[in-house]
Amino acid sequence: MAAEDPQKSGGPNKLVIKNIGLLLSGDLSRPILEADAIVATNGRITAIGRARDVDVGGATTMIDANGVALAPGLIDSHVHPVAGDWTPRQSQINWIDSYLHGGVTTMISAGEVHMPGRPRDVVGVKAMAIFAQRAFAAFRPNGVKIHGGAPVIETGMSEEDFRDLGEAGVKYLGEVGLGGVKDGPTARKMVAWARKYGIQSTIHTGGPSIPGSGLIDKDVVLEADTDVVGHINGGHTALPDEQIRCICEGCRRGLELVHNGNERAALYTLRTAKEMGQLDRIILGTDAPAGSGVQPLGILRMISMLSSLGEMPAEIAVCFATGNTARMRNLDCGLIEVGRAADFVFLDKAQHSDGNTLLDSIRLGDLAGVGMTIIDGLVRTQRSRNTPPATKIPEVVSV
Ligand SMILES: [Zn+2]
Repeated sequence: MAAEDPQKSGGPNKLVIKNIGLLLSGDLSRPILEADAIVATNGRITAIGRARDVDVGGATTMIDANGVALAPGLIDSHVHPVAGDWTPRQSQINWIDSYLHGGVTTMISAGEVHMPGRPRDVVGVKAMAIFAQRAFAAFRPNGVKIHGGAPVIETGMSEEDFRDLGEAGVKYLGEVGLGGVKDGPTARKMVAWARKYGIQSTIHTGGPSIPGSGLIDKDVVLEADTDVVGHINGGHTALPDEQIRCICEGCRRGLELVHNGNERAALYTLRTAKEMGQLDRIILGTDAPAGSGVQPLGILRMISMLSSLGEMPAEIAVCFATGNTARMRNLDCGLIEVGRAADFVFLDKAQHSDGNTLLDSIRLGDLAGVGMTIIDGLVRTQRSRNTPPATKIPEVVSV
């Protein structure tokens, strides 16, 4: 649905959500909040509490959650957009809008690597990154926030190039290893330059993904020292378990698990991080579009897979796709906290799931049903066209 944006028309926008049955915070240290109401003003959370204790007067939009769960909008830490809501990889359009129907409200580019004719020279790499950053900042399909413009490092880039990129507003590097730089020492030098100018980094971990990409093993990963160990479970071909363990133990960087990866290796990484008491390092992505396609429900599928097969409470698995990613990626969403962006997904157990509750159904491996999404305090979608139907859904009530 097309949402009118009252912020653009100048009026205040006060969203009140009541009758929340379960409030998932996205925060590992306190994944469930004792509250049933949220107020957001002009796209920011301004109050969280019991309905009787928060100021619900003057609402411009009132939502009755009908007892379903609310979580922060899901974050996909690893996508490969190109331009607009189109991907040439599998010739698909509206894939980003389809992700929104899977509860994803924010995406981070790991490189616009599927751009036909992608430039490999330094000026071309910089120009494309700045173009993509600008284009995705200005174009948000149905409100989805796409942090695009992620240059893939090539040999010959200098410190000045990273300064230029940082000053131009580029915030993330694409996967190290997808360009000409595949060796540890060069990667380490460029990653450090990127960091100096405020640009976060990630790396392609494991075997080649498609013809033309290469192997990145534990030695290169540890030497490059990127902020995130991109798809530590491979994309799709994973490193041997002992190398995954070496990476987990050899650094404190983010451990990204992707849908377009080896599921057994994802579970191995999860168990290792749990043993180490470092679940705060786990973040989720899909790595789509890729050879295995677009996965609109990929993040929900990862949550159910890790919770059911990885024996992880569902409310913790949700944190991997929300608060953990927000903190690691310096995003203003992903947590139910006053001051954060009002980006939400309403979830309920799918119709006829064997689970008694939403959390129970996820632990059994079923996918949650999405009943509504909200971005910047505005309703963007109602009952998902992609998830199994939620048992109960929230509704917009008149004010
Ligand atoms: Zn990759």
